Amino acid sequence: MTRYQEDCFYCTRNAKLAANYILVAPLHVATVYLSRDQTHRGRVAVVLNWHVDEPYQLTETERHEFYDDVAHAAHAVAQAFHPAKINYATYGDTVSHLHVHVVPKQTTDADWDDAFVNNPANPVLLSDTSYREIIDALRANL
Ligand SMILES: [Zn+2]
Repeated sequence: MTRYQEDCFYCTRNAKLAANYILVAPLHVATVYLSRDQTHRGRVAVVLNWHVDEPYQLTETERHEFYDDVAHAAHAVAQAFHPAKINYATYGDTVSHLHVHVVPKQTTDADWDDAFVNNPANPVLLSDTSYREIIDALRANL
């Protein structure tokens, strides 16, 4: 099993990653990235630091460490933005690298009654200053 995949933007950390995410902070076995789409303010992705397709491919210890990092990141999101609920989405079909989207939701959100839209047609993109403010708020709680 390979732990690095040439065509994976989480492994290569290439321009496609930068087009979609901004580095927030490394954690224990994962890295937190801010989603450039801020439809849900504070939305991040927690990305395992090596390539596996599925959580069951991790050892028990690695799996615990990864989900501890997910919980730690979600706690920081909660402390910074006080969402009514956080949804967690683990996908692996378009990018087969274990990562969890941590999506805070407010009861005033238009999609409150649904889970959330992963790639909205009209993403909420912010200024660099606004991204920096969100990242600073997250880092203060990590
Ligand atoms: Zn990868």
